[in-house]
Amino acid sequence: MKYILSWLWNIKLHNKILLGLLLGALFGALLNVSKYEIMLQYTVDGKEKTERIENWEKIEIIEIQDRTVIRTFGKDDQLKLLNYFQSLSKADKSKLVFIVTLKLADDSAKVRVQEFHDVNKIEKIKTIPLYIKPIGTLFIRLLTFIAIPLVLASLIVGASSLGNIRTVGKIGAKMILFYFCLIAIAITIGLTLANTIRPGEKLSTEAREKLLVEFSPNIQAKIAESVELNVINTIVNIVPTNPIAAMANAEMLQIVFFALIVGITLTMIRKEKSEPVIRFFDGFSDMMIRMVEIIMKLAPLGVFALIAATVSEFGFDILQTLFWYALTLIIGLTIHQFIILGSVVKIFSGMNPLKFFRGIRDVMLISFTSSSSAATLPVNMKACEVNLGVPKKITSFVLPLGATINMDGTSMYQAVAAVFIAQVYGVELHLSEQLVILLTALLASIGTAPVPGVGIIMLIIVLRSVNIPEEGIALILGIDRFLDMCRTVVNTSGDAAVATCIAKSEGVLNKEVVQSV
Ligand code: ASP
Repeated sequence: MKYILSWLWNIKLHNKILLGLLLGALFGALLNVSKYEIMLQYTVDGKEKTERIENWEKIEIIEIQDRTVIRTFGKDDQLKLLNYFQSLSKADKSKLVFIVTLKLADDSAKVRVQEFHDVNKIEKIKTIPLYIKPIGTLFIRLLTFIAIPLVLASLIVGASSLGNIRTVGKIGAKMILFYFCLIAIAITIGLTLANTIRPGEKLSTEAREKLLVEFSPNIQAKIAESVELNVINTIVNIVPTNPIAAMANAEMLQIVFFALIVGITLTMIRKEKSEPVIRFFDGFSDMMIRMVEIIMKLAPLGVFALIAATVSEFGFDILQTLFWYALTLIIGLTIHQFIILGSVVKIFSGMNPLKFFRGIRDVMLISFTSSSSAATLPVNMKACEVNLGVPKKITSFVLPLGATINMDGTSMYQAVAAVFIAQVYGVELHLSEQLVILLTALLASIGTAPVPGVGIIMLIIVLRSVNIPEEGIALILGIDRFLDMCRTVVNTSGDAAVATCIAKSEGVLNKEVVQSV
């Protein structure tokens, strides 16, 4: 036992994180949330009671007064029942009675019927992984709180060492060119694969109906959240009216703008005045990087808890139903991640792609588990500086902007999803429409906030641009959590690749660091 513990203690952090991920997946799969059980909370004589209901035959919902049947749910309809219940108002709920028919034993024809009045909550039965999920959430929150102060401090120092607007402009132009080209390549790969594999045509009519019925109640909120794309407004909004508000609202573009201006202006005042300010922020940013290292010690545990909860909650049958859609996207993401990004790194920075991917191992693992480019940002900044030899002045500028603008994975996902939904609905997409998808997916991915699940909201804009029914997102909602994890890995890896290439082109990539990874 002592031997095992000391072995565990001594393995490298990234291997520990990987172990956490694998064990978490296993633990979550073993303690899967049951599709055939629910917890029903109801009120009798003013007291709240809960009842665990397992393996019901049917659940009928009837009107309290005239006892007319409103809905009937069979034993496979857990999700439909939960979604239906969620759509009811409090007043509706009090007017309904739930009649549950349970089979007494598997082989017997005997049944027991139970009536429940004043039902106020129906939920899936929580498993242990769901109870330990807060450990994972805590870990992600710790990383997220570092992101803003770290970007601010490092970019003020970085911009002050870049010296003038012209250098910033040159790096900025290169960065935008890299980002736009990579996004366009990602979308093109996605469109090509979706048009060749044609996943939408492989979805049966029954599967389509089932998905639409199960997930439609969840999409209204998402459709309501979607906004119109407005390029001019986005550009105007880069300038904050109040930098403190920008920080409080985590408006990354505004924070970057403010830090750049502060950093550059510091070079325009007397040295004895600017030096203490720069030294302060330099110390502050080093302290934040150290904090990332400390928090990352929790990563194996955090990753374990998050993956266990996600796998435990995930309905694996959705993977079967949407197999071709998921496969198309995963093939595309893999090509982009390893072939495109690997070649870009090799060609533009001369770095061995294997070394690059080894250097960003933690970044990939944390992106996958957190589904959040924002939470991964501090880990990415540290990995690029410490493992790849990209200096702070490049990481602090290129990575935060990349986290917001450069979403190769999300843009590819939006293209594949749009074509998939169009194929399911039998909407023909001509070349001109595919080009519109390319353009809107490019803009939509830029507008996507670097947090979990926003890609699907921005997808609505892509669908609208080519008149694909937006309700179609109900088809892919059930699998979105998993695909979000995959696309976020590509989003953050793309940022690291561009930061490495820009550092090389500026002649500031520290080769010695790379040799030792
Ligand atoms: N989760 C993604 C990210 O943080 C965004 C998305 O596609 O939903 O990069």
